[in-house]
Amino acid sequence: MPTLAETIHPAASPLTVLSDEEKMFQSTIRRFARERIGPHVREMDEASVFRKDLLHEMFELGLMGIEIPEEYGGQGGNFFQAVLAVEALAAVDPSAAVIVDVQNTIANNVIIRWGNEDQKRRYLPKLASETVASFGLSEAGAGSDAFSLATRAVQHGDHYLITGRKLWITNAAEAGLYLLFANANPEAGYRGITCFLVERNFPGFQVGKKEDKLGIRASSTCELILDECRVPAGNVLGEVGKGYKIAIETLNEGRIAIGAQMAGLAQGALDHAIAYSKQRQQFGKAIADFQGVQFELAQMATDVEAARLLVYNGARMRDAGLPFVTEAAMAKYFASQIAESTASRAVEIFGGVGFTKDYPVEKLYRDAKIGRIYEGTSNMQKLTIAKQILGER
Ligand SMILES: Cc1cc2nc3c(=O)[nH]c(=O)nc-3n(C[C@H](O)[C@H](O)[C@H](O)COP(=O)(O)OP(=O)(O)OC[C@H]3O[C@@H](n4cnc5c(N)ncnc54)[C@H](O)[C@@H]3O)c2cc1C
Repeated sequence: MPTLAETIHPAASPLTVLSDEEKMFQSTIRRFARERIGPHVREMDEASVFRKDLLHEMFELGLMGIEIPEEYGGQGGNFFQAVLAVEALAAVDPSAAVIVDVQNTIANNVIIRWGNEDQKRRYLPKLASETVASFGLSEAGAGSDAFSLATRAVQHGDHYLITGRKLWITNAAEAGLYLLFANANPEAGYRGITCFLVERNFPGFQVGKKEDKLGIRASSTCELILDECRVPAGNVLGEVGKGYKIAIETLNEGRIAIGAQMAGLAQGALDHAIAYSKQRQQFGKAIADFQGVQFELAQMATDVEAARLLVYNGARMRDAGLPFVTEAAMAKYFASQIAESTASRAVEIFGGVGFTKDYPVEKLYRDAKIGRIYEGTSNMQKLTIAKQILGER
């Protein structure tokens, strides 16, 4: 019989305890976010544009190729590091966070996992160094029901002609490469959906209208227009008809990172609220001295910690090769819920000035709303969780 001490797994460590490497990585990104992005957040939100120089710096720092193996010019990191990056950026600017999120946890990962050697050699070095990428699945008529997409791909010898419109595509204004989903065999239903690597300059491809949004305004969200867009057959990613599998599996992972964006946003709102509560005086003392304010801050801190634990657990499970679908849905669902409530509480702690654009919490409150919508709405996450806990019925 093993002793009790022998049954305790020696590798088990608290989820939020970071390795020295992870700590260094996190502190580099926190400093970059605070010092380089921070001064431009308001201006970028108002202009609805992410500065090109900051994008360039994100490439230089290695932030756009975190998981790309070193042999393809990337950082050779893991998914957990990508999650740390998204979280750290979101505390300062959730728009910067989603740019890095889509590039790393969606686009790069799809090519790393499903691309053939030729595609990896052609695209990964560019994605690590200069090219922004987008993930084009949604359409006007295909949101939660994404696989009802109407974009069609017809093969003509060594190329496909793709026709259709994509909506809501993050990073589309800046991107040079689009991972685009079209149905190459509509009779087969969702089993005809295929993922294509579409370059911005392919004939018949055009970036359409840019949305004017409530939040994450510096992150571009555009329509994509494909009019018999000519895509070489060599740019089919994975197999023809396997696009649905690529999309599902990629979005399962991506959800953990959206959870990280929301947990980071909530941490940012909490940090601002703590600092302001110590400095703002009413009735002859700091508002942080009032128990009513202390209880709000305590609730916010507890919510942020719980969200972070869900996110880190999902990310560490993913890196460990364990099943993580339920945990990912829970992380995104919960973190987006508490991001909204935490940012809302932060606005209230700031009082009247919290409602103005002179202080950062108003923007975080607006930015939080998207967490419950993209990469699967909260209802879709609850459907996933319910399906897993109820089993086959
Ligand atoms: C800023 C932004 C960025 C985005 N970025 C991208 C991107 O990069 N790439 C991409 O492909 N897409 C992107 N999207 C699209 C996004 O993923 C969809 O908006 C989202 O999946 C919801 O689809 P929908 O907008 O069509 O809403 P709908 O599916 O029409 O949903 C409307 C409401 O109905 C509810 N609902 C729908 N079906 C059910 C059901 N079966 N049970 C219960 N409730 C249901 C939903 O929960 C929601 O509340 C982005 C969207 C936004 C706003």
